[in-house]
Amino acid sequence: MRLSLPFFIRSPHSAIPRILSPVGVVVGAVLLALFMCLVTSWVLLESRADAHSRAEENARNLVLVIDRDISRTIELYDLSLQAVVDGTADQQVMALPPALRSKLLFDRAATGKYLGSIFVLDEHGSVALDSKSTVPPTGNFSDRDYFLVHRSSAEAGLYVSKPYGSRLRNGALTIALSRRVTRPDGTFGGIVVGTLSIDYFRALLDGLAVGKHGTSAVFEANGSMITRLPYDPALVGRDIRNAPAFAKAMSAPQGAFAETASIDGVRRLYVYKHLSGLPIIVAVEPAEADIYAEWQRRARRIAALVLGFTIVLIIGSMLLAGELGQRRIAESELQRLAHTDALTGLNNRGTFDETLQLEWHRAARTGRELSLLFVDIDQFKAYNDYYGHPAGDVVLKAVARCVLGCVSRPVDQVARYGGEEFVVTLPDMGAAGAMYVAEKVRNAVYDLGIEHAQSHYGRVTASIGVVSSRNRTFDEGTALLDMADSALYRAKSAGRNRVCEAERV
Ligand code: GH3
Ligand code: MG
Ligand code: MG
Repeated sequence: MRLSLPFFIRSPHSAIPRILSPVGVVVGAVLLALFMCLVTSWVLLESRADAHSRAEENARNLVLVIDRDISRTIELYDLSLQAVVDGTADQQVMALPPALRSKLLFDRAATGKYLGSIFVLDEHGSVALDSKSTVPPTGNFSDRDYFLVHRSSAEAGLYVSKPYGSRLRNGALTIALSRRVTRPDGTFGGIVVGTLSIDYFRALLDGLAVGKHGTSAVFEANGSMITRLPYDPALVGRDIRNAPAFAKAMSAPQGAFAETASIDGVRRLYVYKHLSGLPIIVAVEPAEADIYAEWQRRARRIAALVLGFTIVLIIGSMLLAGELGQRRIAESELQRLAHTDALTGLNNRGTFDETLQLEWHRAARTGRELSLLFVDIDQFKAYNDYYGHPAGDVVLKAVARCVLGCVSRPVDQVARYGGEEFVVTLPDMGAAGAMYVAEKVRNAVYDLGIEHAQSHYGRVTASIGVVSSRNRTFDEGTALLDMADSALYRAKSAGRNRVCEAERV
């Protein structure tokens, strides 16, 4: 008979029992948790990059709008300045009466809200003409940077001055836009200068949505701050050449970079652009804290959820592993019990059947010999009847130990076949060896010296039938057992306490 065992016990090397093992369950849970953490981290990093891209895109759009406004305003104002430069070169215009000349020289473009008077300064820096009055104010501006630049160079073009407090407008913060007047002979003939109030830039930046800690700034390529959001007059004209962000913003016509602001120590994303043809740079600078605020809130919530789930997963897997471990122990105990004889602790009949089949097939395959001993205690019924069943049990246990002690090789197996019968499987052993072991067993049982008043030996003895597979042909291992049984029968008939070998063929 063959015991049908569950698949996972019969195939201990397959993958399923390894995964379903207690360690496998915990390792699986840890791997799952790791995988989940990896996927979550990846998604969070992606969404962080998205937040960054959105902020940069938004800042870029704002920069573009500010750039267009400033460029257009200055372009229009410059056209007015150029018209004045051209007019001053025309002798006929300059010969006109002051009121008419003023109308011709200064158009209405220069009368915008944030635009001041346009002045013509002579070569000494004194006011020669004023767009808003036929009687020019007295004043000399030969010390101003815009005057000095044009006097020393004919190539300055449209010059944008550093911010300064206007002398003519009670110190109002202003930048000057100026062009040189060059006489026909190429010598310096003065300048035409107009002013643009810092309030223009301030109004442009006011109300921009750059976040709680974000800012925006307009500054000059020479490092002078024109204005910054939120507006602070103390910052107008400040030299920012030493700020790390300024150096980076000067490295390319436009771009984006992250930097800590020297003004307030806040880390921001700087998105900047140099105005085309003008020494002015516009920057929109959202703070990283604002850019990532929403992302951080979400990331914290997701991380807490994943952490909670991971803890539950690991604890759950450990509980499951514990339960699996208990079951395995119980199963292996059941397994052991199913294969063992309860009284003697030897293999039981079922296990013997399996062993015999296995060894029989192995012997048939390899051509090696297989021997069997059939051991039967003599007159045991009589023993029981005389000494009682419990005493019989004690004898059975003693004989079982005794038989077991007579075999030494790991492949040899002893089983209780039933009642007072034992079988010994001896793979790779011929008849001579088997006979030797059988004699050893018989002697050992005899030497136990257990009193048996009903036996004419006076002690417990055993008879043994021996068979070896050599030169025999049969289909089943059980045929070998039958032969051992027959040999045992002959041993009994011959007087018991003896070993008989099955007839050789
Ligand atoms: P023989 O010499 O021909 O083998 O005679 P025998 O009496 O040993 O053989 P028989 O088959 O007539 O009797 C076997 C006895 O073994 C019968 C039964 O009382 C006893 N026996 C079987 N199983 C157990 C057991 O588990 N415990 C005890 N104490 N006795 C058992
Ligand atoms: Mg018997
Ligand atoms: Mg017997």
